[in-house]
Amino acid sequence: MEAQVLVVGSANADLVVATERRPGAGETVLGGDTETLPGGKGANTAVAAARLGADVALLGAIGDDGNGRLLLDSLRGAGVRTELVRIVDRPTGVAYITVTPDGENSILVSPGANHALEPADVDGALDGVRVMVASLETPLPTVEHAIATGSAKGVLTVLNLSPVAKVADRALAALDVLVVNEHEAAWLLGAASAELPRLLELGPRSAVVTMGARGAVVVTSDGLIEVASPKVDVVDTTGAGDAFAGALATALAEGASVADAARRAVRVAAVSVTRRGAQPSYPRASELQ
Ligand code: ATP
Repeated sequence: MEAQVLVVGSANADLVVATERRPGAGETVLGGDTETLPGGKGANTAVAAARLGADVALLGAIGDDGNGRLLLDSLRGAGVRTELVRIVDRPTGVAYITVTPDGENSILVSPGANHALEPADVDGALDGVRVMVASLETPLPTVEHAIATGSAKGVLTVLNLSPVAKVADRALAALDVLVVNEHEAAWLLGAASAELPRLLELGPRSAVVTMGARGAVVVTSDGLIEVASPKVDVVDTTGAGDAFAGALATALAEGASVADAARRAVRVAAVSVTRRGAQPSYPRASELQ
């Protein structure tokens, strides 16, 4: 049986090292021990959905290496279907993350195997799927093809337009739900948040703008709906956007409206920021009571 939620996206090993300061050009700095954690927007989104009980598959690509095995273990451990994760002849994607004592991250991503995911890999993967959710650490032509194919098959299509990039007008016009954070929305609109209703002029049926601690705003043709976040003690916001996307897709697959799905996603993302890490921080449905 096909999965109800298909995530089209990246799987990366996050290599995290704490350092007093970042090296400048030509300089060497000694940092702390390296922590290797499963990450990547696609894998994170799929894990978030699986924790909430979704029947979810990841369409992605990894290498035949230790980082790839780490990702497969993490996906399977969370209950994500991995039969559509291709093993290719390139190294698994890696995010090199340095963290300074002020909590600032700087991240260098080596996409590696993620860049081997081709449009043809999408064909056949969308049969029987209710909701497809894509993000942009995967090649743009593959994501655009997934949106076109999904929409032609009657799949509800969601694009987390992150990291922000120019997506073909045709793909945006075929899209059901566009998900962006405030910065991505401003980039798309070339304007401040007062202009959010204009996101629909780009083509999607509706849009959800995540607003960090403030929650989210849902943009529909009927107007704006503000979804406030519960107040929480923040420990680590890494992967909050991916938790939001996974929870939104899960609720949509269960038949929720976009506004109700955003209400659920805000609660899930609020729990995720109270715990360390990305995937380990994502709650189960039973923890949301
Ligand atoms: P990230 O890059 O950290 O994964 P993002 O920039 O894509 O996130 P944000 O808008 O910062 O997106 O966060 C996504 C969602 O996570 C928000 O809509 C909100 O529900 C939740 N969230 C983020 N930060 C906080 C916070 N400080 N308190 C409560 N909820 C938060």
